[in-house]
Amino acid sequence: LSERLQASLAKMRGKGKISEADVKEMMREVRLALLEADVNFKVVKQFVNDVKERAVGQDVMTSLTPGQQVVKIVHDELTKLMGSEVSPLTLSNRPPTVIMMTGLQGAGKTTTTGKLANHLRKKQNRSPLLVAADIYRPAAIKQLETLGKQLELPVFSMGDQVSPQEIVTNALDYAKEHHHDIVLIDTAGRLHIDEDLMQELVDVKEIAKPNEIFLVVDSMTGQDAVNVAESFNEKLGVTGVVLTKLDGDTRGGAALSIKAVTGAPIKFVGLGEKLDAIEPFYPERMASRILGMGDMLTLIEKAESQMDATRAKELEGKMRDASFTFDDFIEQLQQVKQMGPLDELLGMIPGAGKGKMKGLKNAQIDEKQLVYVEAIIQSMTKRERSEPEILNASRRKRIARGSGRSIQEVNRLIKQFEDMRKMMKQFSGQMGKGKKKGGFG
Ligand code: GDP
Ligand code: MG
Repeated sequence: LSERLQASLAKMRGKGKISEADVKEMMREVRLALLEADVNFKVVKQFVNDVKERAVGQDVMTSLTPGQQVVKIVHDELTKLMGSEVSPLTLSNRPPTVIMMTGLQGAGKTTTTGKLANHLRKKQNRSPLLVAADIYRPAAIKQLETLGKQLELPVFSMGDQVSPQEIVTNALDYAKEHHHDIVLIDTAGRLHIDEDLMQELVDVKEIAKPNEIFLVVDSMTGQDAVNVAESFNEKLGVTGVVLTKLDGDTRGGAALSIKAVTGAPIKFVGLGEKLDAIEPFYPERMASRILGMGDMLTLIEKAESQMDATRAKELEGKMRDASFTFDDFIEQLQQVKQMGPLDELLGMIPGAGKGKMKGLKNAQIDEKQLVYVEAIIQSMTKRERSEPEILNASRRKRIARGSGRSIQEVNRLIKQFEDMRKMMKQFSGQMGKGKKKGGFG
């Protein structure tokens, strides 16, 4: 999906206006791309129609650049399709809150039961109880018990000779007695949808009266995920979906379809075999992933469309001979800000979320800091901005007062600026000629 979409979006860039024909052509590309990503065809049809309507009917031709506008519309619609915002867990007002985990065999139910319990304990300070109610799959109970040991979480089991209904009845009593406020029931799965299994789950549901019925879906299963979600939802009334194995190279087509087809929100995602590899589902992030924004090209194109090329050249020259001033600095800051939220920009750098750079993607970029930096620079006189050398103690004090920041912050910024100039001077020889455009920092 990402490449195709990327390509068609790229076509839209650099044009003054988007015609209806442009939108039409792009939507054809989008449609193909979504189908390739294994999105359900019904969903694709609806999506394309929605976007077309918005793109043609709205002010596509006025704000921003046309390309940006279209990117935004596609992104917004993708997000909307998946639920617009994070769906929190539905909690019982009379504990314990009961969560029933359902899904096909191998989807990741047992693993997710452990992950989710651990997540809720850590992030919400809960006291979960895991219940082993899969009496069919060989070693299923053992698997949950092992997980419980690893996580130091209690597991309730009665072996595989007792019916799931009886296990659940006893587990609920046990949970009340031992003050567990969350009960997670790991149920049996089958390879395919199967009447017996469904009946058993319905029976368990009647006894457990769960606050949440989670359907665990393997995101790699593509089209099938939609059919599975549809049947489980029909029989059980799914209240939420957990999408597992998103750490694979799946393009997330399933995520796009499931919400649209079942109406059940995706609440969590599994991102690996490790027991802490679980996260709440963020529709907007998923939309970005599906759009393939982890792409330096997008970043560069965005930057280039924002920054006038000749001005960029000028700044580059200034960097080389180190005549770069605070005025130039603030101009660059503003350029960066125009490109969008910083954490989103970081998301576009390939590999920013992986390996050594893992911290980068989730790093809290404090946009406030940028505002402070601007405030400090704006409190400088014109001369101070172009001749930072004259910034003595009394000037610094005045700037601090004027900007409402501390003198330490002012000092730090000036120091950073000077270091930057020094660095530019050192690197100016190595920067090569005319290869890079307006590199920031
Ligand atoms: P169940 O049959 O639905 O209970 O599925 P399991 O919990 O036993 O998981 C089946 C397999 O999928 C196991 O090997 C898990 O380690 C693996 N698995 C589960 N969730 C994830 C995930 O988010 N990412 C990856 N890579 N593997 C997962
Ligand atoms: Mg299992």
